Amino acid sequence: MDLFEYQGKELFARFGIPVSAGEAVETPEDARAAAERIGGQVVVKAQVQIGGRGKAGGIKLAGTPEEAEQHARNILGMDIRGHVVRRLWIESASDIAREYYASVTFDRGEKKPLFMLSAMGGMDIEAVAVDNPEALARLHVDPLTGFQAHHARWLAYHAGIDTPAIKGVVDVLQKLYEAFIATDAMLMEINPLIWTTDERVIALDSKVTIDNNALYRHPEIAAMREATTEDPQERMAQERGVTYVKLDGDVGIMGNGAGLVMSTLDVVALAGGRPANFLDAGGGSKADEVVTGLEVLLSDPKVKVLLINIFGGITRCDEVARGLLTALDKLNVTIPIVVRLDGTNEEEGRRIIAEEAPSNVVVEATMLSAAERAVLLAKEA
Ligand code: GDP
Ligand code: MN
Repeated sequence: MDLFEYQGKELFARFGIPVSAGEAVETPEDARAAAERIGGQVVVKAQVQIGGRGKAGGIKLAGTPEEAEQHARNILGMDIRGHVVRRLWIESASDIAREYYASVTFDRGEKKPLFMLSAMGGMDIEAVAVDNPEALARLHVDPLTGFQAHHARWLAYHAGIDTPAIKGVVDVLQKLYEAFIATDAMLMEINPLIWTTDERVIALDSKVTIDNNALYRHPEIAAMREATTEDPQERMAQERGVTYVKLDGDVGIMGNGAGLVMSTLDVVALAGGRPANFLDAGGGSKADEVVTGLEVLLSDPKVKVLLINIFGGITRCDEVARGLLTALDKLNVTIPIVVRLDGTNEEEGRRIIAEEAPSNVVVEATMLSAAERAVLLAKEA
């Protein structure tokens, strides 16, 4: 799970990493009020999960609350490489003397956390790694002995951090490691980590990824997800624990098992159609799961026809067919539904659908014929 900058900074603050005072807002009026409360010069920052916001015009300095409101008006709704800005972070502006880069992530090859530190921060760190590899100090952490102050000092000297900033940078690196371990993070990156003209070290940006499999241990971080998922169907799917990916076509797709769903996408494309989404109802796919899946799919207004592709293994096709009937009973589905049932007890499953399902439900025996039928129905809709 990726956090927004302001959420990452909230975590940083919890671990004692210095960040600027600020507020998250969603309207120009609130941006102005926040700027008034913060006082002095502020920075208006687009909250999107993509780098290079500065270059794209998503970060602006404002001298007055009026100016903050004006920048907010311009930045809200802006499309930054496919990410629409719906929220802003307004923070007290810093006077930057130097911009550094600091991160800790996992090096899977070494099976150890890896720290990287550079005095050439603020810019594209990948370019620094290629053009000035010596400017990027790297250090693996032995998880048994942990990350000690002398490791942090080693990094600071090798990265060429300015002498007066070393103490503050060392302190941030140690707290960053604490935060990284305590939150089950996969990545924590600060670019830039700044040294200010009044001689303070501050995390001016944050990029944080938390291991999804560990979220159950961090309910307060999991709760941040609410705000990170803007799409209503994706949010609904997350809440209900089904795997759902939104695409941009009109054929809604549900299957049991990720591999089957992925091949269904291919077959729909082969039949000349465009999938509206990807929904894996899970290997079991009993009635409850079918209901949940259908609710998520049907809440997307772009879906003109549903293609349900089930391969009966341990779950028998007749069970799935009955689950589907129960689901259709509960939900008022008016769009056409094409069902492909194959595998254990397929004949019984197909018979149940053919005889008992409403007339908008049709059964096909193969994946290709089901996809062709669905694509045809979508074109007619
Ligand atoms: P990114 O472009 O998405 O990585 O966003 P950042 O948060 O890293 O900001 C980009 C750049 O904006 C920074 O490298 C700074 O040069 C500038 N910037 C951000 N905040 C401030 C601030 O408080 N004061 C000043 N002077 N510049 C800032
Ligand atoms: Mn940045």
